Amino acid sequence: MIVREDRYCIQNQDLLELCQNYGTPLYVYDGAKIEEKVNTLKNAFKGIKMKIKYACKANTNISVLKLMNKLGVEIDVVSPQEMAIALKAGFSPEQITYTSSGVSFDEIEECVTENVLINIDNLSSLEKFGQKYGNSVPVLIRIRPNIEGGGNLKISTGHKESKFGIAIEQKPAILDLIKKYDLNIVGIHQHTGSDIKDGKTFVNVAKVIFEFAMDFPNLKYLDFGGGFKVAYKEGDIETDMKDLGEKISASFSEFCQKYGKDLELWFEPGKFLVSESGYLLAQVNVVKENPTKTLLGLNTGLNHLIRPMMYDAFHDVVNISKSAESSKKMYDVVGYICETDDIAKERELPEASEGDILAIKNAGAYGFTMASNYNARFRPAEVLIYENKAHLIRKRETLQDILNNQVLVDF
Ligand SMILES: *Cc1c(COP(=O)(O)O)cnc(C)c1O
Repeated sequence: MIVREDRYCIQNQDLLELCQNYGTPLYVYDGAKIEEKVNTLKNAFKGIKMKIKYACKANTNISVLKLMNKLGVEIDVVSPQEMAIALKAGFSPEQITYTSSGVSFDEIEECVTENVLINIDNLSSLEKFGQKYGNSVPVLIRIRPNIEGGGNLKISTGHKESKFGIAIEQKPAILDLIKKYDLNIVGIHQHTGSDIKDGKTFVNVAKVIFEFAMDFPNLKYLDFGGGFKVAYKEGDIETDMKDLGEKISASFSEFCQKYGKDLELWFEPGKFLVSESGYLLAQVNVVKENPTKTLLGLNTGLNHLIRPMMYDAFHDVVNISKSAESSKKMYDVVGYICETDDIAKERELPEASEGDILAIKNAGAYGFTMASNYNARFRPAEVLIYENKAHLIRKRETLQDILNNQVLVDF
């Protein structure tokens, strides 16, 4: 039983107990935090028909998906496997959108067979879709608004050089395909990037989409993608949802009036819904006093959380075995992978001992889903706290899991 002073804040004591019960490294997700984020988003867009389509690549654990479903959230998938997990988690096909990015047409057909809505991001696939389905299957198109957005280039998707979407200047070609195949385009989609700091980016994107959409008479949905910025540390800026909700809702209502029909507005947040819910808990294996700095070597690394090495992402780190008031020291926190494996550099933390547990925060999004078995290490177990009860939602791996599909050749 998890005891909370603040409904949205798990106590260090509880996290330590989870480590005792399930071992480390361990991913822990706080269902109450996820619910809080869902409600924040819902409340910000109360005045219009808004749907949340959780971008599940951020965290595809089947029980996390089940929780999303329970919270009234729908889902965006990017592969047939994510679609299959979503179906198993209890989503109905109508609640699922498959946003493909340069995938084989077989995959699109596979998802159409399941009655999942398809979002197409290139003219070639749109042509094939027209040839095969004509107007018998509704479809969304992903456009590229040519707007720069996103915390860094690796996570920007809406700019001119990006691989994503059909460039807006190719609208005539889209209209030609509609004419040729009688395509039933029911939605216009865009996703500008991740960690978008400035709400104005969304407002600018909205303008582009509203203008673009006027030439498509069968629309039911406008999908503005995800990419909301979350806080990575105390006082960090995050997307001002209330402000964004007011601005976008007003312009969306205005658009609907002009368009002559009440559409649904969709968002596809990944990070926003799950990032802050997650903790990666790991143990200090070694305190290494180097002449120039002190390192804390953990029993985890880039195999479990690749974001610091891949995107220079910042993750707050807390030593939950020590009180926050104890005397501090400067540390670099590193992983145990045989490769440069920084987790957090130059952090002032309570003086650490070997065996202490560190909590790496904001680990709910793009943590486990990007984890690997590099160095032939096991991936962590996962726990979801829901209604103050801890549920094991992924067992710790064993050597058999790693060897499962390997073939020992009989030379
Ligand atoms: C990754 C992705 C998202 C989610 O991005 P976040 O930054 O996690 O909100 C939304 N839509 C699409 C199409 C994506 O590929």
